Amino acid sequence: MMEPLIQVQNLSKYFKISKHEILKAVEDVSFDIYEGETVGLVGESGCGKSTTGRCLVKLYNPTQGKVLYNGKDIFGAKSKAEKLEYCNNTQMIFQNPYSSLNPRMTVKDIVGEGIKLHEQVNEKELDERIEDLLRAVGLNRDHMSRFSHEFSGGQRQRIGIARALSVNPKFIVCDEPISALDVSIQAQVLNMLKKLQKERGLTYLFIAHDLSVVKYISDRVIVMYLGMMMEQADADELYKNPMHPYTKALLSAIPEADPNIAKSKDRIKLKGEIPSPINPKDCCRFVERCAYAKPICSEQIPKFKMVDGKANHKVACHLY
Ligand code: SF4
Repeated sequence: MMEPLIQVQNLSKYFKISKHEILKAVEDVSFDIYEGETVGLVGESGCGKSTTGRCLVKLYNPTQGKVLYNGKDIFGAKSKAEKLEYCNNTQMIFQNPYSSLNPRMTVKDIVGEGIKLHEQVNEKELDERIEDLLRAVGLNRDHMSRFSHEFSGGQRQRIGIARALSVNPKFIVCDEPISALDVSIQAQVLNMLKKLQKERGLTYLFIAHDLSVVKYISDRVIVMYLGMMMEQADADELYKNPMHPYTKALLSAIPEADPNIAKSKDRIKLKGEIPSPINPKDCCRFVERCAYAKPICSEQIPKFKMVDGKANHKVACHLY
């Protein structure tokens, strides 16, 4: 059996708000990502998906748990070489292409910064590398001397992707990379990410709140709610046989293009709002909004376990 490239083991990230208040952004999250695959992480705003992604690129130190890269603990690295190895192999594409690019830097400076930091290249080699990267994301050499404000949102996100690729990473956390873009541009950027993955053997954690986007790009999907994992399955299996009441509600909210199918589709409306992640109770995090809640749901956190008879399908719910 192939070893996973990334192993997330019982990862928790808490933020202390005050003496008695702890925001549990991520709690006891465990999953693997294999080389060359795309794992989609989906859920509403505030479910902990971006915090999980930020722990994976070491922007946050976890409160508990481990992240292993090729079997090595990324937070336990002692030597400079070990720390650099993970930094070089891991990059992030940010959600907002308007704020994630420095407006005072040219495209050449933005894309070339990582190359100059990690390698010794002369000016000619640097220009050639940047030109190759810009071509890979659908831009060209003429764009090198321009500033980010001279580009559209889609082009800015392409610059962000070229920057992420500049250090030849193996693993990229894509944090809602298309949610700030016009719908007409979203498909172009998604297709480009798929093409780059194939050409460069990349592995993605793709974070999004839109399940239809996640389905299009992911091999496996993880559904999060209020900091915890609710369900995980291969993408096709999750969409055909959702088991967790929250996943079912999310899937029922995907708009249907065919009016005949849309008419027959029952939309599950969730009651209330997503509760506060500050000092959450030790019970099912979805209990206040679940139509199937039983007494045990308010007393115990359901175990995240494999569904009987289904390969690779896990769910955290007392119904199973
Ligand atoms: Fe609903 Fe209970 Fe399942 Fe939670 S554990 S999703 S409250 S049925």
